[in-house]
Amino acid sequence: MWVQRLGRSMVGHAPRFCRPISARIVGKTNVEVQEQTDSQSLIFPGVWLRDNCLCEECFHGSSRSRKLDWDKFDTRVRPLQVRTDEQAQEAIVSWSDSHESRFPMKWLRERSFQEERQEKYLADFYRPPSRHWPGSQFEAIAQHFDYGQVMDNDQVLEQWLQALAVYGVALLRGAPLDEGVVRRVAERVGFIRRTTYGEEFVVQAKPGAQNFAYLSLPLPLHTDLPYYEYKPSVNILHCLVQTESPGGSNLLVDAFHVADRLRQEHPEDFERLCRVVVDWNDIGSEDGLEFHNIWRAPVICLDAQGRYTRVNHSVPQRDSHFNVPLEEVQSWYESYAKFVQLARAEAHAFKTRPGDVLTFNNIRLLHGRTGYDDTENNSRYIVGAYLDWDIIYSRLRVLKKRRNQ
Ligand SMILES: [Zn+2]
Repeated sequence: MWVQRLGRSMVGHAPRFCRPISARIVGKTNVEVQEQTDSQSLIFPGVWLRDNCLCEECFHGSSRSRKLDWDKFDTRVRPLQVRTDEQAQEAIVSWSDSHESRFPMKWLRERSFQEERQEKYLADFYRPPSRHWPGSQFEAIAQHFDYGQVMDNDQVLEQWLQALAVYGVALLRGAPLDEGVVRRVAERVGFIRRTTYGEEFVVQAKPGAQNFAYLSLPLPLHTDLPYYEYKPSVNILHCLVQTESPGGSNLLVDAFHVADRLRQEHPEDFERLCRVVVDWNDIGSEDGLEFHNIWRAPVICLDAQGRYTRVNHSVPQRDSHFNVPLEEVQSWYESYAKFVQLARAEAHAFKTRPGDVLTFNNIRLLHGRTGYDDTENNSRYIVGAYLDWDIIYSRLRVLKKRRNQ
């Protein structure tokens, strides 16, 4: 039980040293706690403390869930008295609703309302902040990891996922040349994200009827599945056979960097691409299942703090339905063309080798491929799958927590 591990179990075997702590009520509703070794005191709103009481009546330890009856919760609840238990390293609060709560100092420190501590928690544990890069820096930011080490060593697994979160791209090298690799990689993290096109998919030019060398056309920069509300987050592309012809290179560009440039150089275009909602679509059938996907979203999507959450871009998958006011259309096209030009200028081309597993953020990077020629004895063969960020971030947090224990 979580509560017991942090709190009650400490009674009986005292911590090696008791740090002097003090606590007092400030401004009638807040509680201030101070460790003498720390020059800064921590202030906690009473209402938040009462809401997060850790006793068995208010909190379900094994599921780490609040079980307080919120239909009766008094938001005007006030601390009447506070004291400390230095042996247990806890602050104890008596409340105006006749309840008593005990808060371990470690638990309080981890939930400090100080801005810099909150920022540190969010960057270290919630989601690592992304670092945007121009195409010219690709070689410097794209980290390589050994496939075998990622599969066997949790520390290397964490390094790979951290690099993927920060830069949006990372490469695994030395994978065996079998079709099960993408599934094993996805299952090392969590599980494959299925789409209309199945779980694993094969990227291969369809050979011509008479075994003619088949020209595979260039694939312009795009994000996959912009027509899904819940887009697959990360592409895993395993190269089994690479073309010996010129071409067949991957193109990658950090669209967050492209958005940064647009914001700087063409602020009106940036604003328009963040605001105007575009219809993205995909119509067809796969394995007998007919589908008609539509999702409406701007090219550049922002969160409540104005940070990029995702980018949508696909020439073929943009719907001919464009549900915006007539007078928006011409200017939107001008802005979108600027974005596409900047993206092309920033794109970096490189060729994966058999055994490489390229992993990148599908809702941040644009990807494409240069054209190539297959021959009878050499046809480019890539197996792909997707993973979702929810699953990746969760795995990353579990790894970090385990390492810090
Ligand atoms: Zn309680």
